[in-house]
Amino acid sequence: MTATDAVARGPSVRVLPRLDDANRFFWTAGEDGHLRFLRCTACRRYVHPPSPVCPYCLDGTLVPEDVSGNGVVHSFTVNHQQWIPGSDPYVIGLVTIDEQDDVRLTTNLVDCAADDVHVGMAVEVTFEQAEDVWLPLFRPAPGAEAAREPAP
Ligand SMILES: [Zn+2]
Repeated sequence: MTATDAVARGPSVRVLPRLDDANRFFWTAGEDGHLRFLRCTACRRYVHPPSPVCPYCLDGTLVPEDVSGNGVVHSFTVNHQQWIPGSDPYVIGLVTIDEQDDVRLTTNLVDCAADDVHVGMAVEVTFEQAEDVWLPLFRPAPGAEAAREPAP
């Protein structure tokens, strides 16, 4: 087993976000197992990161709404730097949610070997609780490996 075969779990130490009235709905959504974003009542687009105003139509009211939790790996990188001695490599990913292709989360891809992550991989949300925050991480969706495109 090489270092890159290790199952990614994310970094050993996390810097947690500071909760406020504008972002609390997002960081605590995992408490009931749902990923949620602000959605505009006028143009119906999801808005992330949280904003006081819809950047698409400048109209409407933004209200938190659940999404499926399914997405696709848009981009990723593998961190090999051992910030904590003995820590395994972990994957930092940019995930696009299925509901809207310009809503992307910078996250960790977990529960799979770093070498198995690829652009276009179907993923689903899973949450890691740390203090009063539920971090949305992503793992391969059931059947994700079958959807992998063959190498050129
Ligand atoms: Zn809008």
